Amino acid sequence: MDLTDKVAIVTGSARGIGREIALKLAEVGADVAVNDIEVAAESLESVVKEIKALNRRSLAVTADVSSSADVNRLIETVIGEFGKIDILVNNAGVTRDQLLMKMTEEEWDTVLDIDLKSAFLCTKAVIRHMLKQRSGRIISIASVVGMVGNAGQANYASAKAGIIGFTRSIAKEVGSRSITVNAIAPGYIQTKMTEQLNDDQRQEMLKRIPLNSLGTPRDVAEAVAFLASEEARYITGHVLNVDGGMAGV
Ligand code: NAP
Repeated sequence: MDLTDKVAIVTGSARGIGREIALKLAEVGADVAVNDIEVAAESLESVVKEIKALNRRSLAVTADVSSSADVNRLIETVIGEFGKIDILVNNAGVTRDQLLMKMTEEEWDTVLDIDLKSAFLCTKAVIRHMLKQRSGRIISIASVVGMVGNAGQANYASAKAGIIGFTRSIAKEVGSRSITVNAIAPGYIQTKMTEQLNDDQRQEMLKRIPLNSLGTPRDVAEAVAFLASEEARYITGHVLNVDGGMAGV
């Protein structure tokens, strides 16, 4: 995989899976703009330093990806600095777990805004640039939960199922311009998002994973780099599970 001279942007990349995706894309040659919300600015700068140490260009832009004004500023800043965007990775996401009976409207809206509306806003903002250049890669991070559901995560599962429908629809809209649109559905990946689980819950989860181990952010990043590469040029509208076999059981 060689992404030399490509420009990528990864949302929610101050830590976790997004950070690893940004570093992996830089390792295979891309210049990478990283993004996160304001409070994560310090961690975001450390990702920029690591990317620059790989001799790639990098830029940190703090922005809330659920806000259209922030997203438009984010995309215009990256275009202004690098002149183009070849790869957009819609990664930012949050959970607000609660059984339906107790779930508040705010918990529903927050997750739908940050996990689903953000993909609409970011993709819409980059797509006209990609249409003009007649090439591009859009990769969104969904979840196995969007396919199989999960008690206590109706908001999150709905957002992630939405990402899958969004991906398949936009793939059909922009395919004629050589732009591919795909999603990755991670299973249980070791990050801050999943570290709240206690040992019993963890053991229970392992029983549902044929490969019998948790995934790492690196596992997801490798799949993103592949979908971003020339080698994946004929793959679009696809959802790639990176889940140790979890969705199949
Ligand atoms: P994480 O460690 O919580 O990282 C998510 C990142 O997104 C954080 O840096 C967070 O910033 C940022 N973010 C939150 N709200 C944002 C906003 N409004 N605008 C911009 N950035 C924002 O989560 P992760 O585990 O790496 O998850 C990354 C993606 O993978 C998410 O879409 C998640 O749903 C998906 N996923 C994760 C797993 C898993 O097992 N971990 C499984 C399936 C799918 P703060 O730190 O400041 O909040």
